[in-house]
Amino acid sequence: MRLTKLDVINIIKEQTVAECDEIKIRFIEHIKHLYQYAIFKNLLDLVATKALQNSLKFDIKEKTKFDLDEGNCRTIKEPLIDSVLNNFRRDKHYIITIKKIEYNVIIHEIAHMIEQELNLDLNHFVAFLHRDFQNDNNIITVKNAINDVLVKQVVRYSVNQHNSELFARFFQLFAEAKEVSGYQTKYKYNLEDIGKALINSMTWVEQTLGALMQDRLDANIVNFTKSYIKQVQDINHKWAEQKVQKLHGDNRDNKSKWTKAVKSIKDI
Ligand SMILES: [Zn+2]
Repeated sequence: MRLTKLDVINIIKEQTVAECDEIKIRFIEHIKHLYQYAIFKNLLDLVATKALQNSLKFDIKEKTKFDLDEGNCRTIKEPLIDSVLNNFRRDKHYIITIKKIEYNVIIHEIAHMIEQELNLDLNHFVAFLHRDFQNDNNIITVKNAINDVLVKQVVRYSVNQHNSELFARFFQLFAEAKEVSGYQTKYKYNLEDIGKALINSMTWVEQTLGALMQDRLDANIVNFTKSYIKQVQDINHKWAEQKVQKLHGDNRDNKSKWTKAVKSIKDI
């Protein structure tokens, strides 16, 4: 079906169930916010593509004290008869449960879906990430975040989950940046800082992952959501009323050359 008028946020909303309207609205507001950042566009476009195909649902519920996780992504493999080829193929459906409506949690669980959907071999990604770990020029806030999120927390998982966790947490670290998470952020670094620290793995994400994703995305969605993307300084931050602080430093002449994904966010 060709949609003449496409509302991508609505496609995701239609596939979202929640305990009550209030948390559903809060979740959709978070999706809208994330959709403004170029670095998350491909991920969210694949979410919307799967939602349009009726193959992805969000289940939003408040975390209880009995929950050990803040979210999870469940993959359901269903044999489907492909009527064109008249044979069986396996289609993947996803239920992404979000128990804590925060940007980092949402992006983390979406990244798990991306890995499953593309059947990613993450060995190269992890090799690049390890190259990034050698970089000891990072500012202290970035060092702390990498040490907590990519090292200490990952060792608690079984070894066969490490690559998946590293991949999800790579995106999580971008969502934790001040420009995205505002004063919810624990580590208080900028997008530019984390982009510099993860330059090698980001190149893999931009080139290898970017190429793999291209033919999986619905072309109408890709086109439509271009209008969602904004320059970071133009994004209307919900936390503006909290505390007005300068999010960008003044060292504009100090721009390093780094990959397009962050440049498109950062270039002023
Ligand atoms: Zn995870």
